Amino acid sequence: MKNSSNTVIPISTIGRARPAVAVPEVAVPATGVLLDRLGRPMTDLRISVTDRCNFRCSYCMPKDVFDKDYKYLPHSALLSFEEMTRLARLFAAHGVRKIRLTGGEPLLRKNIEGLIEQLAGIRSPSGEPLALTLTTNGSLLARKAAGLRAAGLQRVTVSLDSLDDAVFRHMNDVDFPVADVLAGIDAALAAGLGPIKVNMVVKRGTNEQEILPMARYFRTHHGGKVVLRFIEYMDVGATNGWRMDEVLPSADVIARIHAEFPLVPLEAATPGETAQRWAYADGSGEIGVISSVTQAFCHDCSRARLSTEGKLYLCLFASAGHDLRPLLRGTASDDDIASAIGHIWQGRADRYSELRALRGPDNDSGDAGGKAPRRVEMSYIGG
Ligand code: SF4
Repeated sequence: MKNSSNTVIPISTIGRARPAVAVPEVAVPATGVLLDRLGRPMTDLRISVTDRCNFRCSYCMPKDVFDKDYKYLPHSALLSFEEMTRLARLFAAHGVRKIRLTGGEPLLRKNIEGLIEQLAGIRSPSGEPLALTLTTNGSLLARKAAGLRAAGLQRVTVSLDSLDDAVFRHMNDVDFPVADVLAGIDAALAAGLGPIKVNMVVKRGTNEQEILPMARYFRTHHGGKVVLRFIEYMDVGATNGWRMDEVLPSADVIARIHAEFPLVPLEAATPGETAQRWAYADGSGEIGVISSVTQAFCHDCSRARLSTEGKLYLCLFASAGHDLRPLLRGTASDDDIASAIGHIWQGRADRYSELRALRGPDNDSGDAGGKAPRRVEMSYIGG
């Protein structure tokens, strides 16, 4: 992003800077489930392993911002795999049962299989392995699927916004062909990384005409082993030029599909699941909708997000994170760091989407009615 004097400002420095995280005076026990101020447990940890991506999807990483002058985080600033694993173990002791690797594009991080091997070794306090998943744009999946599975990855979610090659190339804005992503999905299924979730961000006026072609395709391919989910276009970050009139509500998506393929609602598979599930009445599989704008789901949001350089974010729409890296690279013990994590989560009251719904989507006023603090970029902390 460029400021008035045209100087490039790395996205990671934007937003309210918080003081470095200190070890709490009153220690929070290093183990045990944590509840935030709204009574929500911390069960999901999303780890962004890179702030880089090889796509330039306009709703996430618009090319005019993330251009050739953009300054990405230097490698020295990134958490090492050992640091990520140390933190993940401490989060697991506090109740995290699922880890999702994100980015940017996580498969761009060199030797990510090494990280997955380390994370696959973590156990919950009762000795269970954690659920280990990854979200990818699929561009490198065909080549990497077997190695990811062998390293211990269990599942993948693939972002795919269109089957029409021209529309897809336009949306990823790097002229990347849809066929390569479909080949990645095939390779992931063949490697045993299924069932696979495919996430389609629906932007009114851009790819809504692709809703039915995508539904038809995934109903008839892969024998129901792919669950297609439609995501409402969100006002994440501060660079995608979001407007409410470009949001197609999930209710519309469901109505369009139901008209051709009758649907029946399903119960959530796990507490805190972001998607509303629908089954095809004829038994040929299921779809999902993720409706952060029109049907907020903050009431049971159990997700913590770790940025690639060690900042803990408590909401996708947060404007600042809690920097754990100084503790990691200083003299803090595991118990100290676990106590700090506990203290941060117990103070959490984030519910951005609910508040957006209350105040109205186009009224982006801040806490005190002033200018809203700048939200962190999704490409930096993962979706
Ligand atoms: S807006 Fe924030 S609190 Fe609400 S569901 Fe999303 S990440 Fe969770």
